[in-house]
Amino acid sequence: MVFAPAGPGSDGRLRVPGVMAFARMEDRSMTMDRRAFLGGMVSAGGMLALGVDRVFASALALGDGTLLDWNERGSGVFVMADLSTGGNSLMLVSEGQALVVDTKSPLLGAAIRGDTEVLSDGAGVTLLNTHHHGDHTGGNEAFADVPSYAHARALPRIEAQIERFKSAGRNAKGSGPAMEVLAKSVRSAAGSWTAEMFVPDHAINDEGTTLEIGERSVEISHFGAGHTDNDLVVRVPSLNLVHTGDLVFNGLHAYYDPEAGVSARGWIGSLERVLALCDEDTVVIPGHGMVGDRSIISAAIGYHTALIEAVQKEIDAGAAKENAQEKSWAFMEGLEFESIRARAIGAVYDELSGG
Ligand SMILES: [Zn+2]
Repeated sequence: MVFAPAGPGSDGRLRVPGVMAFARMEDRSMTMDRRAFLGGMVSAGGMLALGVDRVFASALALGDGTLLDWNERGSGVFVMADLSTGGNSLMLVSEGQALVVDTKSPLLGAAIRGDTEVLSDGAGVTLLNTHHHGDHTGGNEAFADVPSYAHARALPRIEAQIERFKSAGRNAKGSGPAMEVLAKSVRSAAGSWTAEMFVPDHAINDEGTTLEIGERSVEISHFGAGHTDNDLVVRVPSLNLVHTGDLVFNGLHAYYDPEAGVSARGWIGSLERVLALCDEDTVVIPGHGMVGDRSIISAAIGYHTALIEAVQKEIDAGAAKENAQEKSWAFMEGLEFESIRARAIGAVYDELSGG
């Protein structure tokens, strides 16, 4: 059995082929509980004997089966919805195929990749970015060897973020011994990263597309400029599941980014299209905040509608932008991400006043 090289290869890429080999070696007819299986196999010696990449073997051996704490929702659906780690990631596993939606940061992306190989049967991984923002694409490098998708307008924007990605990689810090093993590898690889390692190799246009992941059809839609000019919405009809990307900030202020083509009115229009995809049982994964149902989409529509109304009143009353940005209204009470409140008001002020 050939041992994969430890850590980054000569081209700076973080290698994970050993993990794939490990995943393929699992007996798919095994009836033993998967976690029990992993628990039994996860020792550094046991993993290395199976040819698992040494970095991942060492890291996985220090954890309890996966590197990250996934919310396992059944039917092959795993979610990481954690306010402190960037945009929410979704992993969808079906028939030996896995779709990963968004990759957080360089370190967490590497961990997500390793976990994907463990939680799926490792036959094939596909990556999708809901939009270009760095807290959704920062870990793309760990998926540079698999098919990857984003909206066409996301691609140059992702490419332009390379220095930010490298900086985040060089400063990667793991929490706990398992993640620190991985962080050390990411830090040493980051200096030689190039933009091509982060930019998805498939562009999705405004008409959207459908991806086949195992037995799941995954519908990818773009509903016009909203949070950015390249938002994609993910829908899995057979699971009645929707990932909205950053069109929904659940329980949080929304992040307005004028550099990315944000449009408050477009945002509402996009959200209405997303809402139309849902019924009362749909599981809705927002870009940030807790997983919910379609009511979190309605709440997001309410936020932007109220924001437009409130800011228009300020403009009509002759308030300067700076003064309007100091305001807060009842509909904002209790929302987290307070630090981006003024930014949202300012962006809407500019949009409504043509500024
Ligand atoms: Zn975003």
